[in-house]
Amino acid sequence: MEEKAGRQPRFKGDSVLWNGEWVTLRSLLTALPPEEFAALARARSMDFFSNTHAFCGRCGAPMEPAPDPVTPHARRCSGTGCEGNTRFSYPAFSVAILAAVTRRGGAELLLAHNTAWPAGRMSLVAGFLHPGEALEDCVRREVLEETGLRAANPVFSGSQAWPFPCSLMTGFTAEWEAGEIQPDGTEIDRAEWITREKFKAAGEWTTAPGTALQLPPKGSLSRRLLDAWAVKVR
Ligand SMILES: [Zn+2]
Repeated sequence: MEEKAGRQPRFKGDSVLWNGEWVTLRSLLTALPPEEFAALARARSMDFFSNTHAFCGRCGAPMEPAPDPVTPHARRCSGTGCEGNTRFSYPAFSVAILAAVTRRGGAELLLAHNTAWPAGRMSLVAGFLHPGEALEDCVRREVLEETGLRAANPVFSGSQAWPFPCSLMTGFTAEWEAGEIQPDGTEIDRAEWITREKFKAAGEWTTAPGTALQLPPKGSLSRRLLDAWAVKVR
């Protein structure tokens, strides 16, 4: 990994200068080993944090790297009038959930199509955590809002740094409880229950048009949850 030797990778939005070429960070999610992608995720999220916290949100003075080695990711307000130069900011993460909802004893799994995606691309129901909300409540709310279905028994099943630009993705399994699929029409225009047979026949995530089912990219938490479901013996 060329960028390892003490140099910070350069970012431009969600692109990174990698081996002399600008590539999307998403393409490296699949191409790099997880630990290398994690290092890049950390760099990207810190780059985003520095750029969006140049000035104190309270007094407007410039922010600077915090000198305290106990808080290596923090930035500090340089304004002496602001809590006596002790006001720190820490990187804030947008927390999101992914919901692998199954029914018929796990034989079928719910996939949804986002209105912004090519026709064949589908993934798990996903959404951002609201203030004051527990992750399990977020799972139930997002499934209901996007697909009209009631989900029960959300169980945490892993997480992943998601540096697009500064999120934490959390994965849950859940079970269908009630309702028929009714996409919200705004974010999701189609959702369906898929079988393992259909999953195994699906292709990879591309930007190509076409209606054949495309799965989320390898290396993503959504794909890990799907793969875990696909190999589960009923
Ligand atoms: Zn301040």
